[in-house]
Amino acid sequence: MATTISGSVRRPEPQALASAVEALAARFGNRLITSQAVREQHAHTTTWLPTQPPDAVVMAQETADIQDVVRICARHGVPVIAFGTGTSLEGQVNAPAGGVCIDLRDMNQVLEVHAEDLDCVIQPGVTRKALNEHLRDQGLFFPIDPGADASLGGMTSTRASGTNAVRYGTMRENVLALKVVRGDGEIITTGTRAKKSAAGYDLTHLFVGAEGTLGIISELTIKLRGIPETIAAAACSFETVRGACQATILAIQTGIPLARIELLNAEQVRACNAYSKLTLPETPLLLLEFHGSEIEVAEQSKNFGEIARECGGGDFTWTTKPEDRTKLWQARHDAYWSVKALRPGAGVVATDVCVPISRLADCVTETEDDLKQLNLLSPIVGHVGDGNFHCSLVCDVDNKEEMARGEEFMHRLVERAQAMGGTCTGEHGIGQGKQKYLEAELGVEAIDAMRALKQALDPQNIFNPGKIVPVG
Ligand SMILES: Cc1cc2nc3c(=O)[nH]c(=O)nc-3n(C[C@H](O)[C@H](O)[C@H](O)COP(=O)(O)OP(=O)(O)OC[C@H]3O[C@@H](n4cnc5c(N)ncnc54)[C@H](O)[C@@H]3O)c2cc1C
Repeated sequence: MATTISGSVRRPEPQALASAVEALAARFGNRLITSQAVREQHAHTTTWLPTQPPDAVVMAQETADIQDVVRICARHGVPVIAFGTGTSLEGQVNAPAGGVCIDLRDMNQVLEVHAEDLDCVIQPGVTRKALNEHLRDQGLFFPIDPGADASLGGMTSTRASGTNAVRYGTMRENVLALKVVRGDGEIITTGTRAKKSAAGYDLTHLFVGAEGTLGIISELTIKLRGIPETIAAAACSFETVRGACQATILAIQTGIPLARIELLNAEQVRACNAYSKLTLPETPLLLLEFHGSEIEVAEQSKNFGEIARECGGGDFTWTTKPEDRTKLWQARHDAYWSVKALRPGAGVVATDVCVPISRLADCVTETEDDLKQLNLLSPIVGHVGDGNFHCSLVCDVDNKEEMARGEEFMHRLVERAQAMGGTCTGEHGIGQGKQKYLEAELGVEAIDAMRALKQALDPQNIFNPGKIVPVG
């Protein structure tokens, strides 16, 4: 598999690809699909990054299927791209060099649940909602909740998080062990069900966030939590975005164990009200959730209420009714689509910076000012308890001038966050869209180390080539 200048990859020789597809057809029959429509569905579809479809798609049903696809692709030097549910936002599932996409959605079995140890073993195609549906009757839940109903294999590979991360961490803190198919088709076991381990290099966390560039996850062992005794959700409106951010900073610094604290600026609230048929006050808003015993929840919300008043926050409405809570959080999870609905046909791209908590208010308010200055439409929503927020930038992709303003805005936002000690991506990953920011953030030495790891674990560069750090 030939790779050329950094950042670009070259397609395999046509004969090599034809031989690989022939071998896959013999092995998988009608589970090998080459129709244009299906190939395009397996490329990047969520933002304005260009769609680059694979040459073929294989529907995997078991680990042996993944091993055989990898072995056939390795034999012919053909790229292989894992596919969970395709909701990633930085071009992670695109196929710039073509190749074979392995669709893992049919590997959707919950293999073991160890309620007594608060963990379970699952296949990579299990989605977060399906897992929680499976666990509900056992009083257990899996807290990591990206807005989309993503697969656990994809969430692990993008180091995803969501609205519950402020209390329960990201995928990094919730994956105990993995089984990974490596370049020769053999399986790496990265850990055990032990809650902690110091056994050698931490391979589990090397593959968490690797975006399918080092191997393909065929099985996961993840942590579970007991469903809290009391769950209360609340909405608290603020006079200013800075006030809402200040309240968040104080709540985190004073150690209130918030389960969720999400910021929506007024523009985002308007979009959510319109899309999700809500009547939230159209001011800067914090959506909150408290978990614990009845007494603990009352204590947490009282403490937060005091902080909110200090920061220009009004009284907050709260509810413990499951149907109200579900409606509120579904609206939050639909924030991205509510923005898309603001200008049908326009492109939307979600930024994803994350800064140290004390810099949150400065970063968000300077960003709002920059949007006004550049005259761009971009509602803001964020997992602010982690210092992470998203601007859903709306641009007409055919309007070169508006796109140029959009690109300039995103560049300035990343520079602002990195200057504050933060990162260009809190949870969406690098993929193709954020490669250009990595060296400024981590330095060339870190890039060299990543490249060395890639070349050591995937010397043929067949695993999702052209992503994170393209090999030189
Ligand atoms: C409306 C919306 C809201 C979102 N909200 C959030 C949010 O709140 N937080 C957040 O973190 N993300 C969010 N996302 C982004 C997205 O949901 C996450 O990146 C998610 O983790 C992607 O999972 P997926 O199953 O769709 O993976 P895919 O998009 O299919 O794949 C993602 C990457 O993982 C690799 N991969 C997939 N499965 C495997 C495997 N088994 N082994 C190895 N590599 C694999 C793929 O090759 C690709 O590089 C949102 C997306 C949308 C559309």
